[in-house]
Amino acid sequence: MASASLVDSLFRQIDWTGKILCLPPEAVEQELKHFKFREITPDRIRVQLDDGTYESLTLTLALHYNPYPDDRPHKGGIRLSNAVTPDILRALAVEMTFKCGVVDLEFGGAKSGIRLPKPATQYSQKEIHRIIEAIADFLIRLDITRPPFYYVPATDMGTTSEHMDIIHARFMAQAQGKHDAVVTGRSPKYGGLPVREEATALGGIEVFEVMLQKLGGNLVSLNSKPTMIVQGLGQVGANFIRLVTERGYKVVGVSNITGGVYNPNGIDVSSLPQDRNGSLAHVAGEQCSSDSILLKPCDLLVPAAMENVITVKNAPLLQAKWILELANHPTEDAEADSILNQRGILVIPDILSNAGGVTASYFEWSLSFGPPHHRVELPEIDKKVQGEIISVMRDSAEEVIKFARKYGVTLREAAWLKAMNRIAKALMYKHRRYITSSWI
Ligand code: NAD
Repeated sequence: MASASLVDSLFRQIDWTGKILCLPPEAVEQELKHFKFREITPDRIRVQLDDGTYESLTLTLALHYNPYPDDRPHKGGIRLSNAVTPDILRALAVEMTFKCGVVDLEFGGAKSGIRLPKPATQYSQKEIHRIIEAIADFLIRLDITRPPFYYVPATDMGTTSEHMDIIHARFMAQAQGKHDAVVTGRSPKYGGLPVREEATALGGIEVFEVMLQKLGGNLVSLNSKPTMIVQGLGQVGANFIRLVTERGYKVVGVSNITGGVYNPNGIDVSSLPQDRNGSLAHVAGEQCSSDSILLKPCDLLVPAAMENVITVKNAPLLQAKWILELANHPTEDAEADSILNQRGILVIPDILSNAGGVTASYFEWSLSFGPPHHRVELPEIDKKVQGEIISVMRDSAEEVIKFARKYGVTLREAAWLKAMNRIAKALMYKHRRYITSSWI
């Protein structure tokens, strides 16, 4: 599990980007290496279980940095898991600031989560709903609709659009006069955009195809498209599998929390469970564990489940040629990353690959300030946003390649440089005292 040193290593990355871009060191130190509001609480939440007993839960909200005007919120999903820790939430909040920077969205970075005492699968749907209601009440009390805790949550691991509907409804009922933009990722029947569900996956495949076109090299063959292994069958992984299958790619391995299946002839994707945590025992192929699927041969490995799955231990053993990081922080640390680089495995980094979700959220958030859209208009608006997501993601991928070439660095380093370049412009403007002749 991640430790506090994960944030330290991200701060080292921030220092490095600051030096390369010749930013005033005091600006980097004072603005970006702090949590503007540090971590709030942890607050105690009591939720009634179906058997009448109560469970005490801890909710953590980590807000990193917002270099933009105060009417732009901090953005980041709500995670519900038995493995989430304050440290990982802080790290994900930092990464969110930089993810928004890579795709030029004026959002600060945030993340929130509840650490469950047992796996989410062991709670009934009603219990999960009560937990979500408790989260909503906490956020209402904190008044997240304006600074200093201005925060717009969305889905993340363990939360769904239905949960965002519950939070939104709770805000509308309890917090009089608030606008619709309190969450993103609502379901289409309650004002969300249908494309949000697949947006992260869509952004990922678009980024991959740009990379394939520009850097294809060892992946492009005349006769066949790259083969793929996908870890995680949730909102991100399942949609990614659907989209790549529609585009003619062969998925040769999948896994979720229950285990994995490898089939070099191609997984029958129609046999995959609808439930993200459903058993894979009936899927044709060689059964394996959730982790060992990462070691099977393929062209593209797509971690789309959780953080820290690629480590110094398994990095030397991976047989993939490329990695598309759809999960947040799937590569544990710089050491694991450097093994991948030394082995010539091209890593398309998380802050670029999975930014399609927050890009869709940005459009949903912006639209929330206007009049509610009529269901007749919805397909057209949705199509338009889908096109915007595709162009934002493709453009950002091309820009990251340019940074990589200009500075002679990896795609991960290039993505951080591109993000820092955007963030620095905003922070210099916001805090003009930092503007010096050393930075343009
Ligand atoms: P989800 O809860 O919908 O699905 C998670 C999937 O991972 C499930 O299939 C689960 O069974 C599987 N899983 C859990 N533990 C596993 C393990 N040990 N081994 C193998 N599989 C395991 O979550 P999601 O929304 O699809 O998010 C997945 C990842 O993508 C997370 O890292 C999340 O932060 C990141 N992400 C999500 C979004 C989004 O829009 N939902 C956006 C950006 C990044």
